[in-house]
Amino acid sequence: MITLRTVSELRDALAAPRRAGARIGLVPTMGALHAGHLSLIRRARASCDVVVVSLFVNPAQFTEAADLGAYPRDEAQDAHAADGAGADILFAPAAQEVYPPGFATQVSVTGITEPLEGAHRGVAHFDGVATVVTKLLNMVGPEVAFFGEKDAQQALVVRRLVSDLNIPTEIATCPTVREADGLAMSSRNVHLGAADRRRAVALHRALSAAAERVAGGERSAEAVLEAAHAQLRALAVEPEYLALADPHDLSPVTDITGPALLLVAARVGDTRLIDNRLLEPVPAPC
Ligand code: AMP
Repeated sequence: MITLRTVSELRDALAAPRRAGARIGLVPTMGALHAGHLSLIRRARASCDVVVVSLFVNPAQFTEAADLGAYPRDEAQDAHAADGAGADILFAPAAQEVYPPGFATQVSVTGITEPLEGAHRGVAHFDGVATVVTKLLNMVGPEVAFFGEKDAQQALVVRRLVSDLNIPTEIATCPTVREADGLAMSSRNVHLGAADRRRAVALHRALSAAAERVAGGERSAEAVLEAAHAQLRALAVEPEYLALADPHDLSPVTDITGPALLLVAARVGDTRLIDNRLLEPVPAPC
Protein backbone atom coordinates (compact mmCIF):
# COMPACT_ATOMS: atom_id res chain seq x y z
CA MET A 1 0.00 0.00 0.00
CA ILE A 2 1.18 3.50 -0.79
CA THR A 3 0.18 6.70 0.97
CA LEU A 4 -0.52 9.71 -1.26
CA ARG A 5 -1.17 13.31 -0.23
CA THR A 6 -2.08 15.25 -3.34
CA VAL A 7 -4.77 14.95 -5.99
CA SER A 8 -2.18 15.01 -8.78
CA GLU A 9 -0.22 12.10 -7.21
CA LEU A 10 -3.49 10.22 -6.83
CA ARG A 11 -4.54 10.82 -10.44
CA ASP A 12 -1.06 9.79 -11.67
CA ALA A 13 -1.22 6.56 -9.66
CA LEU A 14 -4.70 5.70 -10.99
CA ALA A 15 -4.10 6.66 -14.64
CA ALA A 16 -2.45 3.41 -15.81
CA PRO A 17 -4.84 1.00 -14.05
CA ARG A 18 -7.80 3.05 -15.30
CA ARG A 19 -6.49 2.87 -18.89
CA ALA A 20 -6.12 -0.89 -18.46
CA GLY A 21 -9.78 -1.13 -17.46
CA ALA A 22 -9.25 -1.72 -13.73
CA ARG A 23 -12.28 -1.46 -11.47
CA ILE A 24 -11.46 1.20 -8.88
CA GLY A 25 -13.16 1.18 -5.47
CA LEU A 26 -13.19 4.01 -2.93
CA VAL A 27 -13.76 3.73 0.82
CA PRO A 28 -14.08 7.23 2.28
CA THR A 29 -13.19 7.47 5.99
CA MET A 30 -12.22 9.99 8.64
CA GLY A 31 -9.68 7.56 10.08
CA ALA A 32 -9.44 6.04 13.57
CA LEU A 33 -10.18 2.85 11.65
CA HIS A 34 -12.08 0.08 13.43
CA ALA A 35 -13.60 -3.23 12.32
CA GLY A 36 -16.54 -1.39 10.71
CA HIS A 37 -14.22 0.52 8.37
CA LEU A 38 -12.19 -2.63 7.72
CA SER A 39 -15.32 -4.51 6.65
CA LEU A 40 -15.84 -1.84 3.97
CA ILE A 41 -12.22 -2.12 2.81
CA ARG A 42 -12.44 -5.94 2.65
CA ARG A 43 -15.67 -5.70 0.68
CA ALA A 44 -13.94 -3.31 -1.74
CA ARG A 45 -10.95 -5.68 -1.99
CA ALA A 46 -13.26 -8.57 -2.88
CA SER A 47 -14.86 -6.75 -5.81
CA CYS A 48 -12.32 -4.21 -7.12
CA ASP A 49 -8.90 -4.27 -8.78
CA VAL A 50 -7.66 -1.12 -7.05
CA VAL A 51 -8.84 -0.14 -3.56
CA VAL A 52 -8.41 3.48 -2.49
CA VAL A 53 -9.08 4.38 1.15
CA SER A 54 -9.36 8.08 1.85
CA LEU A 55 -8.47 9.39 5.28
CA PHE A 56 -9.62 12.94 5.82
CA VAL A 57 -11.13 14.45 8.95
CA ASN A 58 -13.39 16.87 7.10
CA PRO A 59 -13.65 20.11 9.08
CA ALA A 60 -16.64 21.23 6.99
CA GLN A 61 -18.95 18.55 8.40
CA PHE A 62 -18.24 19.25 12.07
CA THR A 63 -20.72 21.62 13.60
CA GLU A 64 -18.98 21.66 17.01
CA ALA A 65 -15.36 22.81 17.26
CA ALA A 66 -14.80 20.62 20.34
CA ASP A 67 -15.95 17.52 18.43
CA LEU A 68 -13.47 18.27 15.62
CA GLY A 69 -10.66 18.97 18.09
CA ALA A 70 -11.27 15.74 20.01
CA TYR A 71 -11.70 13.53 16.93
CA PRO A 72 -9.22 10.61 17.32
CA ARG A 73 -6.31 10.65 14.84
CA ASP A 74 -3.58 8.05 14.36
CA GLU A 75 -2.46 7.89 10.76
CA ALA A 76 0.32 5.33 11.32
CA GLN A 77 -2.11 2.89 12.95
CA ASP A 78 -4.72 3.58 10.23
CA ALA A 79 -2.18 2.92 7.47
CA HIS A 80 -1.26 -0.39 9.08
CA ALA A 81 -4.93 -1.41 9.43
CA ALA A 82 -5.93 -0.31 5.90
CA ASP A 83 -2.96 -2.19 4.44
CA GLY A 84 -3.92 -5.33 6.41
CA ALA A 85 -7.49 -5.17 5.09
CA GLY A 86 -6.28 -4.98 1.48
CA ALA A 87 -6.09 -1.29 0.53
CA ASP A 88 -3.73 -0.37 -2.33
CA ILE A 89 -3.71 3.39 -1.83
CA LEU A 90 -4.24 5.44 1.32
CA PHE A 91 -5.17 8.94 0.21
CA ALA A 92 -4.52 11.23 3.17
CA PRO A 93 -4.62 14.84 1.96
CA ALA A 94 -4.01 17.91 4.13
CA ALA A 95 -6.95 20.26 4.65
CA GLN A 96 -5.28 22.79 2.30
CA GLU A 97 -5.28 20.21 -0.51
CA VAL A 98 -9.02 19.66 -0.18
CA TYR A 99 -9.96 23.27 0.61
CA PRO A 100 -7.29 25.48 -0.97
CA PRO A 101 -7.41 29.26 -0.50
CA GLY A 102 -10.35 30.70 -2.43
CA PHE A 103 -12.46 27.55 -2.16
CA ALA A 104 -16.06 28.77 -2.56
CA THR A 105 -18.29 25.91 -3.74
CA GLN A 106 -20.78 23.87 -1.77
CA VAL A 107 -22.91 20.84 -2.62
CA SER A 108 -26.21 21.05 -0.75
CA VAL A 109 -28.83 18.29 -0.83
CA THR A 110 -32.31 19.39 0.23
CA GLY A 111 -35.15 17.34 1.75
CA ILE A 112 -33.61 14.19 3.20
CA THR A 113 -30.87 16.26 4.90
CA GLU A 114 -33.39 18.24 6.95
CA PRO A 115 -34.76 15.86 9.65
CA LEU A 116 -32.84 13.76 12.22
CA GLU A 117 -29.08 14.46 11.92
CA GLY A 118 -29.75 17.61 9.90
CA ALA A 119 -32.14 18.97 12.51
CA HIS A 120 -29.80 18.17 15.41
CA ARG A 121 -26.37 18.89 13.96
CA GLY A 122 -27.48 21.73 11.67
CA VAL A 123 -27.60 22.00 7.86
CA ALA A 124 -23.84 22.64 7.70
CA HIS A 125 -23.21 18.98 8.61
CA PHE A 126 -24.69 17.42 5.48
CA ASP A 127 -23.50 20.33 3.30
CA GLY A 128 -20.00 19.42 4.51
CA VAL A 129 -20.55 15.70 3.88
CA ALA A 130 -22.08 16.24 0.42
CA THR A 131 -19.30 18.61 -0.63
CA VAL A 132 -16.41 16.41 0.50
CA VAL A 133 -17.94 13.21 -0.89
CA THR A 134 -18.50 14.90 -4.27
CA LYS A 135 -14.88 16.09 -4.23
CA LEU A 136 -13.52 12.64 -3.28
CA LEU A 137 -15.58 10.97 -6.02
CA ASN A 138 -14.21 13.52 -8.53
CA MET A 139 -10.64 13.07 -7.27
CA VAL A 140 -10.68 9.26 -7.43
CA GLY A 141 -13.25 8.56 -10.16
CA PRO A 142 -14.18 5.17 -8.69
CA GLU A 143 -16.54 2.65 -10.31
CA VAL A 144 -17.91 1.95 -6.83
CA ALA A 145 -17.76 3.66 -3.42
CA PHE A 146 -18.52 1.91 -0.13
CA PHE A 147 -20.48 3.39 2.77
CA GLY A 148 -21.77 1.97 6.07
CA GLU A 149 -25.43 1.42 6.89
CA LYS A 150 -24.56 2.78 10.34
CA ASP A 151 -24.76 6.28 8.87
CA ALA A 152 -28.07 5.56 7.14
CA GLN A 153 -29.05 9.17 6.47
CA GLN A 154 -25.57 9.90 5.11
CA ALA A 155 -25.82 6.94 2.72
CA LEU A 156 -29.17 8.28 1.43
CA VAL A 157 -27.65 11.74 0.95
CA VAL A 158 -24.75 10.24 -1.01
CA ARG A 159 -27.10 8.20 -3.22
CA ARG A 160 -29.16 11.33 -3.87
CA LEU A 161 -26.22 13.53 -4.87
CA VAL A 162 -24.64 10.84 -7.08
CA SER A 163 -27.95 10.44 -8.90
CA ASP A 164 -28.71 14.17 -9.11
CA LEU A 165 -25.21 15.15 -10.28
CA ASN A 166 -24.83 12.23 -12.75
CA ILE A 167 -21.70 10.97 -11.01
CA PRO A 168 -20.91 7.60 -12.62
CA THR A 169 -20.19 5.76 -9.37
CA GLU A 170 -22.16 2.88 -7.90
CA ILE A 171 -22.87 3.31 -4.18
CA ALA A 172 -22.59 0.11 -2.12
CA THR A 173 -23.74 0.00 1.49
CA CYS A 174 -22.42 -2.46 4.06
CA PRO A 175 -23.96 -3.77 7.31
CA THR A 176 -23.11 -2.20 10.66
CA VAL A 177 -20.33 -3.98 12.53
CA ARG A 178 -20.99 -4.20 16.27
CA GLU A 179 -19.15 -4.92 19.51
CA ALA A 180 -20.01 -8.18 21.29
CA ASP A 181 -22.76 -6.46 23.33
CA GLY A 182 -24.30 -4.88 20.24
CA LEU A 183 -22.86 -1.36 20.45
CA ALA A 184 -22.25 -0.12 16.90
CA MET A 185 -18.55 0.41 16.32
CA SER A 186 -17.65 4.07 16.01
CA SER A 187 -14.46 6.09 16.14
CA ARG A 188 -16.11 8.10 18.92
CA ASN A 189 -16.52 5.04 21.21
CA VAL A 190 -12.96 5.58 22.50
CA HIS A 191 -14.28 8.66 24.33
CA LEU A 192 -16.72 6.58 26.42
CA GLY A 193 -15.66 6.12 30.05
CA ALA A 194 -16.32 2.70 31.63
CA ALA A 195 -19.74 3.60 33.09
CA ASP A 196 -20.91 5.32 29.90
CA ARG A 197 -19.62 2.41 27.82
CA ARG A 198 -21.99 0.13 29.77
CA ARG A 199 -24.90 2.56 29.24
CA ALA A 200 -24.14 2.91 25.53
CA VAL A 201 -25.61 -0.53 24.84
CA ALA A 202 -29.03 1.08 25.43
CA LEU A 203 -29.17 2.22 21.80
CA HIS A 204 -28.80 -1.30 20.44
CA ARG A 205 -31.22 -2.64 23.04
CA ALA A 206 -33.78 -0.03 21.99
CA LEU A 207 -33.48 -1.05 18.33
CA SER A 208 -33.70 -4.74 19.22
CA ALA A 209 -36.76 -4.27 21.44
CA ALA A 210 -38.50 -2.42 18.62
CA ALA A 211 -37.56 -5.11 16.10
CA GLU A 212 -38.99 -7.77 18.41
CA ARG A 213 -42.28 -5.90 18.71
CA VAL A 214 -42.54 -5.59 14.92
CA ALA A 215 -41.62 -9.26 14.44
CA GLY A 216 -44.38 -10.08 16.95
CA GLY A 217 -46.96 -8.34 14.74
CA GLU A 218 -47.08 -4.83 16.23
CA ARG A 219 -47.89 -2.25 13.52
CA SER A 220 -48.33 0.92 15.55
CA ALA A 221 -45.26 3.17 15.41
CA GLU A 222 -46.23 4.65 18.76
CA ALA A 223 -46.19 1.25 20.48
CA VAL A 224 -42.93 0.24 18.82
CA LEU A 225 -41.27 3.54 19.75
CA GLU A 226 -42.45 3.14 23.34
CA ALA A 227 -40.76 -0.29 23.55
CA ALA A 228 -37.55 1.35 22.35
CA HIS A 229 -37.87 4.32 24.71
CA ALA A 230 -38.26 1.92 27.65
CA GLN A 231 -34.81 0.43 26.92
CA LEU A 232 -33.23 3.90 26.77
CA ARG A 233 -34.91 4.94 30.02
CA ALA A 234 -33.70 1.75 31.75
CA LEU A 235 -30.11 2.97 31.27
CA ALA A 236 -30.93 6.66 31.75
CA VAL A 237 -30.12 7.50 28.13
CA GLU A 238 -32.03 10.52 26.82
CA PRO A 239 -32.34 10.39 23.01
CA GLU A 240 -31.81 13.44 20.82
CA TYR A 241 -34.18 11.68 18.49
CA LEU A 242 -35.76 8.25 18.21
CA ALA A 243 -37.80 8.05 15.05
CA LEU A 244 -39.40 5.67 12.59
CA ALA A 245 -38.91 6.78 9.03
CA ASP A 246 -39.44 5.61 5.49
CA PRO A 247 -36.11 4.04 4.42
CA HIS A 248 -36.21 5.79 1.01
CA ASP A 249 -37.07 9.39 1.88
CA LEU A 250 -37.02 9.50 5.71
CA SER A 251 -40.63 10.69 5.89
CA PRO A 252 -42.25 9.84 9.25
CA VAL A 253 -43.93 6.43 9.58
CA THR A 254 -47.01 6.01 11.76
CA ASP A 255 -48.23 2.58 10.66
CA ILE A 256 -45.63 -0.09 9.95
CA THR A 257 -47.05 -1.60 6.79
CA GLY A 258 -43.66 -2.10 5.09
CA PRO A 259 -39.96 -1.85 5.95
CA ALA A 260 -39.37 1.07 8.34
CA LEU A 261 -36.08 2.49 9.52
CA LEU A 262 -35.72 3.12 13.23
CA LEU A 263 -33.06 5.75 13.88
CA VAL A 264 -31.66 6.90 17.18
CA ALA A 265 -29.14 9.49 18.35
CA ALA A 266 -28.16 10.11 21.96
CA ARG A 267 -25.41 11.64 23.99
CA VAL A 268 -23.98 9.16 26.46
CA GLY A 269 -21.87 11.30 28.75
CA ASP A 270 -20.17 13.69 26.33
CA THR A 271 -20.15 11.24 23.45
CA ARG A 272 -22.76 11.50 20.72
CA LEU A 273 -23.77 8.11 19.35
CA ILE A 274 -26.07 7.15 16.47
CA ASP A 275 -27.51 3.83 15.36
CA ASN A 276 -30.36 2.50 13.25
CA ARG A 277 -32.10 -0.70 12.25
CA LEU A 278 -34.43 -1.64 9.44
CA LEU A 279 -37.64 -3.11 10.87
CA GLU A 280 -39.44 -5.48 8.57
CA PRO A 281 -42.97 -6.57 9.38
CA VAL A 282 -43.80 -10.21 8.84
CA PRO A 283 -46.60 -10.59 6.29
CA ALA A 284 -50.05 -11.06 7.87
CA PRO A 285 -51.31 -14.67 7.58
CA CYS A 286 -53.93 -15.19 4.81
P1 AMP B 1 -16.33 7.66 9.33
O1 AMP B 1 -14.85 7.43 9.41
O2 AMP B 1 -17.02 7.68 10.65
O3 AMP B 1 -16.68 8.86 8.44
O4 AMP B 1 -16.92 6.39 8.58
C1 AMP B 1 -16.44 6.00 7.31
C2 AMP B 1 -17.38 4.97 6.75
O5 AMP B 1 -17.40 3.83 7.62
C3 AMP B 1 -18.82 5.48 6.63
O6 AMP B 1 -19.38 5.02 5.41
C4 AMP B 1 -19.48 4.84 7.82
O7 AMP B 1 -20.87 4.63 7.64
C5 AMP B 1 -18.74 3.52 7.91
N1 AMP B 1 -18.86 2.96 9.26
C6 AMP B 1 -18.67 3.61 10.44
N2 AMP B 1 -18.92 2.78 11.47
C7 AMP B 1 -19.29 1.60 10.94
C8 AMP B 1 -19.68 0.33 11.50
N3 AMP B 1 -19.75 0.13 12.81
N4 AMP B 1 -19.98 -0.68 10.65
C9 AMP B 1 -19.92 -0.49 9.29
N5 AMP B 1 -19.56 0.68 8.71
C10 AMP B 1 -19.25 1.70 9.52
